[in-house]
Amino acid sequence: MPVVDGAAAATFRRALVRWYRRHARDLPWRRTRDPYRILVSELMLQQTQVSRVLDFYHRFLERFPDLATLAKARQPRVLEAWSGLGYYARARNLHALARHVTTTRDGVIPEEPAHLRELPGIGAYTAGAVASFAYEKRAALVDTNVARVLQRVFAPHLPLKTGAGLKRLWAIAEQILPRTGKATWTHNQALMELGALVCSARSPKCGHCPVRSICASRDRFTRAA
Ligand code: SF4
Repeated sequence: MPVVDGAAAATFRRALVRWYRRHARDLPWRRTRDPYRILVSELMLQQTQVSRVLDFYHRFLERFPDLATLAKARQPRVLEAWSGLGYYARARNLHALARHVTTTRDGVIPEEPAHLRELPGIGAYTAGAVASFAYEKRAALVDTNVARVLQRVFAPHLPLKTGAGLKRLWAIAEQILPRTGKATWTHNQALMELGALVCSARSPKCGHCPVRSICASRDRFTRAA
């Protein structure tokens, strides 16, 4: 049973991508399909804002330009390069992942979300992000921003913080994917960008939102403004 009306999903996709092409930020991890670089960016972006990640991302990649170099490094050097970014478990996970992939997978980061989830420290969101952003797979992803957008647009009565609510949001994310992996790359980037720039947690800019014509929460925020 579909969770989203097909016509609404098509309108959403079209409006979202059109908006993204005009308003997307030019970010370094959007200019590459290197799975290692995508992985580094995704781990850094967990719990840290884009503006703060930019410097660290470039510096980290200068010291550890590829998976093999990171795998060979001693952990104190990795933590030192991460210093200032906080949440050091992310650096430890990335280092463990580099060693694991080097020793068990000939240094090749897997393409499929199910295989990515077998790696140390990789959850459902990061698996979807690497599959989509590095390999252009037709894979869904739901992080905090995406969950908020999907809930507001398609399922405003769904509780965001319950397992059942999240499961349904993943089902929505999968149902509204475009047909091809290449189009999915843009769609997923656009969803995340909309959550970051327009449909923010505290002050959604509904008046400037490209999907307001089909958003079930538009009136709620317009009335509150
Ligand atoms: S109309 Fe408002 S609530 Fe709906 S997606 Fe856009 S910014 Fe978010």
